[in-house]
Amino acid sequence: MEAVAVLKQAFVKTFGHADGLTVVRAPGRVNLIGEHTDYNGGFVFPMAIEFDMVLAARKRTDQVVKIHSIDYGSTVEFTLDCPITYDTKELWSNYLRGVLWAMQGAGAHLGGMEIAFLGTIPQGSGLSSSAALEVATAVAVRHLTDFNISQPDLALLCQKAENEFVGMKCGIMDQFISMLGEEGHALLVDCRTLDYEPIPIDLGGYQILICHSGVKHSLVDSAYNQRRQECETGVRILAAHFPAVQALRDANLEMLAACAAALPPVIYKRCHHVITENERVLKSTKALKAGDLVGFGQFLNQSHDSLRDDYEVSCSEVDLLVDLARKVNGVLGARITGGGFGGCTVNLIKGEAVEEFLAQVIPAYQKETGIKAQVYTSKAASGAEIL
Ligand code: ADP
Ligand code: MG
Repeated sequence: MEAVAVLKQAFVKTFGHADGLTVVRAPGRVNLIGEHTDYNGGFVFPMAIEFDMVLAARKRTDQVVKIHSIDYGSTVEFTLDCPITYDTKELWSNYLRGVLWAMQGAGAHLGGMEIAFLGTIPQGSGLSSSAALEVATAVAVRHLTDFNISQPDLALLCQKAENEFVGMKCGIMDQFISMLGEEGHALLVDCRTLDYEPIPIDLGGYQILICHSGVKHSLVDSAYNQRRQECETGVRILAAHFPAVQALRDANLEMLAACAAALPPVIYKRCHHVITENERVLKSTKALKAGDLVGFGQFLNQSHDSLRDDYEVSCSEVDLLVDLARKVNGVLGARITGGGFGGCTVNLIKGEAVEEFLAQVIPAYQKETGIKAQVYTSKAASGAEIL
């Protein structure tokens, strides 16, 4: 693995030698279906991808933590003699600081350490480079400190780091799949119970193609938090009529119809997306298990339309990318993936059609937007591991 050689070389350059290293990889992910359902206690269906973060760490004998980002060529240093604080200059370091903070809070006995890392996951594109960075850190630090904690609980600490330390109120999906992904499978995750079922990604002559729109609208974080609040408002109104509704996961379309008069139109649409999206996750995984790729693709298409019209988290560039993709013979489904307002699309495409995708979609998109979209293909990869 070439990345590991680069990692070790950089580690030696920064910290002197490579003795006693723990080396970890943690993957990014693409969510096949189930968008904005995780923080509503619902279902998601992500797979880990072959793009990842690799991280090397070793203990020091004192309380000093030194972290080197190879991609940014920058190092931070702090001491564990003081509380771990947010870094307003080297923002990337907060993902690692946050994980150390959350693990310390959960009882891990941290000591000084040296860490270096690099990654191949496109950043800020909805493929979850941030979760991969958190998970790689957590797995390495668990190993260094002999901290006894399960994989799901460690994923929850990574989510806590991103929610409370970094300040992004993401759900559990990204950290969970980066930690627990399985090669050749996507995971159907119940985000309320964290029960999950690995489902084989057996696509015959088809494959998963990820296409990066090249745009990231600045709305993304604020709108994400706003959508969460809108969902909470929806739950409050629905629960007034149906006390069993504690999260949108508990609601169905009949309940929504019964409360229509009490729900402001925007809140109604948000709830409508989440309720139908949860149903789509369950129906689409059933279709996939039955080998019905056409059906699976149709659910992907419906998911996009719902995210565009009801949840309003798409944007003109991504809509264009999806529309162009759907015109390609051999594309069974195309949708936005990730938080929204730019980022990537996920496409279910016949192997032989990839060439046509590259020849049709990419130039047409560039003509209209001036942006050259990037294409990535990936099989379902395994979750975090010590190498
Ligand atoms: P996403 O998780 O969709 O990729 P985020 O905005 O949540 O996007 O996370 C991206 C941030 O994660 C980057 O701005 C950076 O701070 C950090 N990050 C990701 N990859 C790297 C890397 N290779 N080196 C340093 N920091 C990284
Ligand atoms: Mg992220």
